[in-house]
Amino acid sequence: MKMRLQNFLLTCSLVMMSALALAAEPLPIFDAHMHYNIEARNTWSPQRVIALWRKLGIRAVLATSRPNDGTLDLIAQNAPDIKIVPFLRPYRVQPDRHDWFANSEIERFVENELQRGIYRGIGEFHIFGKDADAPYMAKIARLAKARDLWLHAHSDEDAIERILHQAPGVKLIWAHTGMSTSLDKVEAMFVQYPNLVGELSFRSDLEQNGSLNPQWKRLFLRYPGRFVLGTDTWVTSRWDDVPQLIGFYRRMLSELPADIAERIAYKNGLTMFGLQ
Ligand SMILES: [Zn+2]
Repeated sequence: MKMRLQNFLLTCSLVMMSALALAAEPLPIFDAHMHYNIEARNTWSPQRVIALWRKLGIRAVLATSRPNDGTLDLIAQNAPDIKIVPFLRPYRVQPDRHDWFANSEIERFVENELQRGIYRGIGEFHIFGKDADAPYMAKIARLAKARDLWLHAHSDEDAIERILHQAPGVKLIWAHTGMSTSLDKVEAMFVQYPNLVGELSFRSDLEQNGSLNPQWKRLFLRYPGRFVLGTDTWVTSRWDDVPQLIGFYRRMLSELPADIAERIAYKNGLTMFGLQ
């Protein structure tokens, strides 16, 4: 009898220990909006970047760097525990962001980069309003559709709709989900464009009065497969904020059912790129 009680207690403590171990395991993260730009290189070596990701539980990233060498150097680290999804950034230098869609040098640059055959998408690029009807933007969108590449656009809703009309069915990650686009409009666009995925960096409105904004929560519950997270390390100082940004996401996602939190944090990214 005494033996049975001991066994029972032992089993109980083992169950509790494994429950605690599970609780201590932080939600894995797919960072779907990061840049390893040239300015960051002095302070952030590729090794330091990988070490940061390991420490924070970032297990996969969508890498889009200016120039693309940053992404290539991260891949060259051969970190077996971190998946790197390379995107072709159409910028050689910072000012390219303003006129890349109307610059024949960029066209040649993109053509050459594509020959590497490693990229899963094109972006992040910036384009707004009517500029999205520029012939080169249309060409890139159609090329992406034809080659099954994703686009990663930092755009207002007007430009997103123009791109999606230029190449119906193209798969598009909407950086910052429009930054300031109303959530009613976001939802209307999700209904209209099934290949549109919202990325959540710089959406400080995710939090409202210390909790997950109920309007965002409703969107996440309705479209659990349509959102991804991002840190958007667009300036070097932003790298220092990455731990805090990941902490913020984990805190917001903790208010969702665990399976939905896991999808938005990590699994959606894997599914989008056929990594699971
Ligand atoms: Zn960005």
